[in-house]
Amino acid sequence: MNSSRIKENVDKILEELPPGVTLEAACKTRTPKEINAALSGGVKLLGQNYIQEAEEVMDKVSGKAKWHFIGHLQRNKAKKAVRFFDMIESLDSLRLAKKLNKESKKIDKITNCLIEINSGREENKYGILPENAKEFIHSVSELNHIKIKGFMTMGPFAGADKDFIPYFKITRKIFDSLKGKDFKNCEMKYLSMGMSASYRVAVREGANIVRIGTKLFGPRE
Ligand SMILES: *Cc1c(COP(=O)(O)O)cnc(C)c1O
Repeated sequence: MNSSRIKENVDKILEELPPGVTLEAACKTRTPKEINAALSGGVKLLGQNYIQEAEEVMDKVSGKAKWHFIGHLQRNKAKKAVRFFDMIESLDSLRLAKKLNKESKKIDKITNCLIEINSGREENKYGILPENAKEFIHSVSELNHIKIKGFMTMGPFAGADKDFIPYFKITRKIFDSLKGKDFKNCEMKYLSMGMSASYRVAVREGANIVRIGTKLFGPRE
């Protein structure tokens, strides 16, 4: 999509989002030119699903945007992930957490992470089941080079935006219930929910990060 259309789309969404909600541009498959257009439109946070793609585009993207990793992270990519990204939004296993911790320690970094919640309880999806979130935080909080900053969820692919509501609600509910708790290396601050089809209901259900691709850049080829 051409740069001016992307800027217009960014503008529209930024105007629509209430204060305190961050627009994250989901950049998978997008060119550096498209990503730069989003940045010049006012996007400050970029999401990427693949390490290799990140490597290809990151140094061609201008400005000082933050990058979050939002895809499934394989442990053998953890070393690059902690070097490239400001946050891993898709922490989905203790084994990955341990690997991220080890790689972060090597470069003397504390890596911010969101825990991916499998709110749709889908067997083929990654993420922690809602009822296991507390115990998971408990285990991860022993790792001093990881800081848990909240939750991310996708919810199952659905038809209408209202179909996402139950999945956002359950994620919000455990987020709120754990927010006041005093876990080590944990500050429950971010709730990353909602994509192009569902960001409006996500905001209503308490999201403060929305991850949007199609609505900014057009359909993916
Ligand atoms: C691609 C992607 C998005 C954005 O999806 P759109 O429907 O294009 O807005 C959001 N979150 C994750 C994890 C994604 O992979």
